[in-house]
Amino acid sequence: MNGKYGLNKREIADLLRDRDINPTTQRIEIAHLLFEKPQHLSAEEIRQRMNSEYEKCSQATVYNTLRLFVEKEVVRELIFSADRIYYDSNTDKHHHFVDVDSGGIYDLPAHMIEAPVLEGSPLEGAEVLETSIIVRGKLNGKGGQLEEMQNNCCRSSQRSTLKSRKLADKQSEA
Ligand SMILES: [Zn+2]
Repeated sequence: MNGKYGLNKREIADLLRDRDINPTTQRIEIAHLLFEKPQHLSAEEIRQRMNSEYEKCSQATVYNTLRLFVEKEVVRELIFSADRIYYDSNTDKHHHFVDVDSGGIYDLPAHMIEAPVLEGSPLEGAEVLETSIIVRGKLNGKGGQLEEMQNNCCRSSQRSTLKSRKLADKQSEA
């Protein structure tokens, strides 16, 4: 699962080519941003980060690129409601925990929640293709800990983002 996170831009270009996507500079940069780690970003968050960290990029380009990425299964679209749509860099089957206080979204491994049993229900005989559950709850102060775990699990030695540098400083001080 960690293979595609923290890739450099050349590796991102290869990943896009593998999915039959012409790796234009902006597509590479959007994918590079998404694949920093497993994360859930809205189109607006992606546009803002593109404009602050990469070259300026129009809203239309961001939306068109995300649509293409969803179609080619580079990212997963996570629709909570019409105005809350996120793009998930983790395309493995999994569920989500949403912290009702912060709105933070956390991955739950697929094995934690079983597929529904339709037998005996009006839907008996229907075929389940995918189960994607959204669990809502409160983190009760676990947020920072979870964030750190996610950053640690996917940090690649090739990359040195500000966040991982900060983390490394913290660790060397300890
Ligand atoms: Zn997710």
